[in-house]
Amino acid sequence: MKKNIILMGPPGAGKGTLAKQLISLGMTHISTGDMFREEISNKTELGKLAASYIDDGHLVPDEVTIKMLRNRLARPDCENGFLLDGFPRTIPQAEALEIMSKEINRPIETVISLKCDEQELIKRISGRLVCKVCGAPYHIVNKKPIKEGICDKCGGELYQRKDDNEEALKVRLQHYTADTAPLLDFYKKRNLLVEYDSLIGSETLFDEVKKFLLS
Ligand SMILES: [Zn+2]
Repeated sequence: MKKNIILMGPPGAGKGTLAKQLISLGMTHISTGDMFREEISNKTELGKLAASYIDDGHLVPDEVTIKMLRNRLARPDCENGFLLDGFPRTIPQAEALEIMSKEINRPIETVISLKCDEQELIKRISGRLVCKVCGAPYHIVNKKPIKEGICDKCGGELYQRKDDNEEALKVRLQHYTADTAPLLDFYKKRNLLVEYDSLIGSETLFDEVKKFLLS
């Protein structure tokens, strides 16, 4: 089975759901945000280094991120595969990841890119609601709270994030497309890219992805 995976997709295309489904196959979900938080709170050398950049308001340099990622992907819990989400974002990062993942004998085997019609994404995202207190997600159509405007879990007030409106979303999608196009190209050239339309629904999508990973 192909098991070392990069997952890409615009906001609202169902990346979170697919990630959860893939975890059920035994893969470990790696988010670079979680990785930074862990290294920083454990006060590792790399964590301290990363924190020094973050505290100064700078981005963590790629070489620091790649070193952390190297340690993370080499851990035993990644033996059955890993799912990288939110990384790489640039070609230099993709190149460094390609070399590093081969060095630790856990090369990237597949890049899954989710596509979704822009109008559908707008419909999905512009209906999102979030609890002010506990952060639980709801949706005006797909996941209504029992009582309108009130969180089922904690009774908190539900609100719509400011950037979940149509105009802001169109801008986010344009950025996403512009930023990822070179990466999609990079992985296409290496025959690693598979693309899925997330309109087929999360269950069908997972079945298709599973079939492909096992092929
Ligand atoms: Zn709540």
